[in-house]
Amino acid sequence: MKTFNLPSQVHALLFDIDLTLYTNEVWAKEQIDIQIRHFAKLRGIPEAEAHELIARERIKRETETGKKTSLGNALTAFGIPISESIRWREELLEPEKYLEADPVLREALITLSRKYSLAAVTNNPSRPAGATLKALGVLDLFPVLVALDTTGVSKPHKKPYTTAAEALGVPCGACISIGDRYDIDIAVPLELGMGGILVDGVEDVYTLPDMLG
Ligand SMILES: [Mg+2]
Repeated sequence: MKTFNLPSQVHALLFDIDLTLYTNEVWAKEQIDIQIRHFAKLRGIPEAEAHELIARERIKRETETGKKTSLGNALTAFGIPISESIRWREELLEPEKYLEADPVLREALITLSRKYSLAAVTNNPSRPAGATLKALGVLDLFPVLVALDTTGVSKPHKKPYTTAAEALGVPCGACISIGDRYDIDIAVPLELGMGGILVDGVEDVYTLPDMLG
């Protein structure tokens, strides 16, 4: 765990969901694979070929732009608009098959919620994001959920963060963003004047009540 510019007065904690509120690499990978399987089915090609097509497209884009490209962006090269791959995720993702209730996480979040307002900020659509929180047994602890369809843009865009802060009625300077990817979950919040906590997984979230006091 690494902390960045923690504000002196903290009123809200904005949590990333995937690989932050749970540690499960199989499910994290399945979220990508399920879309590639669907793409393969629609094209009538073997799954391995679909993986290869996507991998090649991603490398091409990364070489051109110097930036990592999302699966959604890579799929647009094959005539699949972003709106359609979002719909696939809305319909296909079943987090409840991979995740289970986490009482230790629940206890930590309950403790944190006595002192801080909590929000979840995710690049997944609200249906699977809500299902993930529900499977972990913590849905009721997040009064604000900012999902992909809440703002129409993905992290690391500023909007999901400012939307979460506004919904909680807390200025950016009194928020901390907590997530597992520096580029996606931490860098932009720091630009907005928030603090950041980079976690290695949910085990680090368990320690936040002690760390933040
Ligand atoms: Mg994550």
